[in-house]
Amino acid sequence: MIVRSSFKCATCGQIHTVRIGMGQEAHQSHRFGCMNCGEDMVVALNVDYQAVAHWTEALENAEHVGEVPGAPIMNVDANFIMPESERHTDFAFPRLTQLRAMNKVAEKHGSLAAAREWRSASPNAAASYCFGRKSWSGNIDSLGSWMTTGVCSAA
Ligand SMILES: [Zn+2]
Repeated sequence: MIVRSSFKCATCGQIHTVRIGMGQEAHQSHRFGCMNCGEDMVVALNVDYQAVAHWTEALENAEHVGEVPGAPIMNVDANFIMPESERHTDFAFPRLTQLRAMNKVAEKHGSLAAAREWRSASPNAAASYCFGRKSWSGNIDSLGSWMTTGVCSAA
């Protein structure tokens, strides 16, 4: 699931439409550079699993604003690598491509554990997701989880 929210950079006023790929944690924060001034902005997606509710939050150098048509897009994801080429693309869903690749590994080895090991222990294989492009993963809370490696940055 992708949650769409808009944030203004408190430093320069640039408004961003932020598309946040939902993870599993109750609090998922993301850091990224403002697309105008480069200053770091930190936003979060909060999930209340008992109430089945979610909401976004401005944490650092960010303010909630209404969506502005044409505002730059910033894609972040709690668990999946965001290829650089799709980082600022609306309607991008790279997690689907990565899930399909993981499914193929799981089917080949007969286990989801194989896909998990492949994803976390094989930077080269994981980097192949990115087709040689730079990418990043901005979830601060999930670093070290089995899906988040950010290994494509040097691909
Ligand atoms: Zn800014």
